[in-house]
Amino acid sequence: MKKYLPTALLLVVFEAVAFTLWLTKDNLFYLLNFSYIGLALSTGVFLYTKNYRHARRIVQLLVGLYMLIYLGLICNENMQIEGFWYYLFTGVFEAATIHYAVAKIFGPLIFGRGWCGYACWTAMVLDFLPYKTPQHPRKKIGWIRYITFAASLVFVAVLFLAHLGNLERIMFWAFLAGNILYYLVGILLAFAFKDNRVFCKYICPITVFLKPMSYFSLFRITCDKEKCISCGKCKTVCPMEVDMTDNSRGRKNGTECILCMECVKACPKKAL
Ligand code: SF4
Ligand code: SF4
Ligand code: SF4
Repeated sequence: MKKYLPTALLLVVFEAVAFTLWLTKDNLFYLLNFSYIGLALSTGVFLYTKNYRHARRIVQLLVGLYMLIYLGLICNENMQIEGFWYYLFTGVFEAATIHYAVAKIFGPLIFGRGWCGYACWTAMVLDFLPYKTPQHPRKKIGWIRYITFAASLVFVAVLFLAHLGNLERIMFWAFLAGNILYYLVGILLAFAFKDNRVFCKYICPITVFLKPMSYFSLFRITCDKEKCISCGKCKTVCPMEVDMTDNSRGRKNGTECILCMECVKACPKKAL
């Protein structure tokens, strides 16, 4: 039964969030929204425990499509970082701010960058590209993320300072344009660098939140040194170039782990 504990724990955490928000905000949407996401994530973890090899991709599609199409396009919720700034400026603790608080700011203290491995609708598409693992060494251009982060903040600040009317509509178009831009840049860079996750490694502004918080993550890949035979198979399958055999918090690219479990599956000694 122990192997089903993460499935149950995930479901309980999301149901706790769902019920708390439903009752405190008196809005049934939160109950349905977080229950759906919790159910999708725990289904994925359950399928993983059953050794189903596409478990993660199924969760990515279930959560990513729901957020992109239902919340973004149908409900007009801008869940990108611009939407977060927008709601923060208006002082409204609603969908985008709650989403960021749970998935990208405080949640990573528990589940690290699980968002990036299982829910992000940008990576949902990028992970279909052919370069599952990087073909070249990592470049020192991670500073680009701070520029995109600042640009998103300045963009929303300018909208407010300009006192434009119908900001809600503008934010919807910004959501559409932002997503198209992310997909275009992400796909082009993936082919240029021969690495599906280039966008995540260097460009994505959300990593400015995700990386420092996931440093303290409760759930993380650790290595049993007694079992490890230093064969290196785990490192060859990691899309994020993490040194998962080093158990320290400061391990190489430690805050990049998206909990995809490829290293765990590849280890012949079940050391991870
Ligand atoms: S780094 Fe950004 S684009 Fe990549 S999976 Fe995470 S949130 Fe999505
Ligand atoms: S292969 Fe392992 S260390 Fe690399 S991102 Fe996936 S879970 Fe993390
Ligand atoms: S695949 Fe397993 S045994 Fe091989 S180096 Fe990695 S943790 Fe050690």
